[in-house]
Amino acid sequence: MSAKILAGKEIAEKIKQDVKKDLEILREKGITAKLVAVQVGKNPSSAVYLNAQKKSCQAIGINHEVKILDNNISEADLIQFIQHLNKDKETTGIILQLPLPQGVDVRKVQSSISVEKDVEGVNPANLGWIVYGRPFLAPCTALAVKELIDSTGIDLYGKEVVMVGHSDIVGKPVSLLLVDKFATVTICHIGTSEKGMLEAHVKMAEILVVAVGKAHLIKGDIIKEGATVIDVGINKLGDKIVGDVEFEIAKERAGWITPVPGGVGPVTTAILLRNTVNAVKNLNKLA
Ligand code: NDP
Repeated sequence: MSAKILAGKEIAEKIKQDVKKDLEILREKGITAKLVAVQVGKNPSSAVYLNAQKKSCQAIGINHEVKILDNNISEADLIQFIQHLNKDKETTGIILQLPLPQGVDVRKVQSSISVEKDVEGVNPANLGWIVYGRPFLAPCTALAVKELIDSTGIDLYGKEVVMVGHSDIVGKPVSLLLVDKFATVTICHIGTSEKGMLEAHVKMAEILVVAVGKAHLIKGDIIKEGATVIDVGINKLGDKIVGDVEFEIAKERAGWITPVPGGVGPVTTAILLRNTVNAVKNLNKLA
């Protein structure tokens, strides 16, 4: 059996079209969206990412601005800068580009982003809304994983889900989003691997989500027949970009599988745009 490919680009395109329509309706009411990305210091790989972000925003009618701050900025001044954006009427969404310089408390700075403008869902209040089962501005990648699973039409009720990776922006929120749909979610991490139990868990997964960042950590031949495989990982292997799952072998066993690149990535970008428009609607009491 060869898996059906979860074409992230097509799903992303559909989301973008919906966002575009929403923005047109808002524009007719005189409401515009502006996303401000804050970066501390110059970083060439961030520049590539931010340029791509700017392009996708502009393509659908979201204003986009990058603010590059001095690398020596203090934590207090960075927080003050964010608070200024929180108050700025024109700014409707704020992104804090990581990494931040050593000594700056990332969590403290993320907490200073206004809950209403936190389009990446990194403010603890927005993460807390997921715990309450009412995700609003949730982390984009976690929402993208849910969107990809939903696109298969699979009912999550009672499904064995294995989430490999427990980061704050992917593994943990994905697990909460899926447990709310009554999936049986097992979260695996370095402790699972080091105890030699990762394979046993992966073999049971009807839905497997992997977000680790280690090329081909999950061997294709241990995927359960017919499983849905969502590979979040992005890794450089020689001159290729690969995921955390051994795609070529896994696709012969899985029912559905995301490619890397072209799976989770484009949907994550589209969700950022959707979060941005949702923030605008909420700020204008239209949500
Ligand atoms: P983090 O480094 O924050 O988290 C990685 C997780 O993997 C941690 O929970 C870690 O556990 C766990 N882990 C590490 N080694 C193993 C192992 N051998 N077995 C099991 N678990 C392990 O990464 P992110 O969640 O931010 O990102 C994960 C991957 O997803 C990266 O490749 C990143 O580039 C990609 N990514 C892709 C996005 C997209 O849009 N496509 C967006 C965001 C991320 P512990 O902490 O206990 O060590």
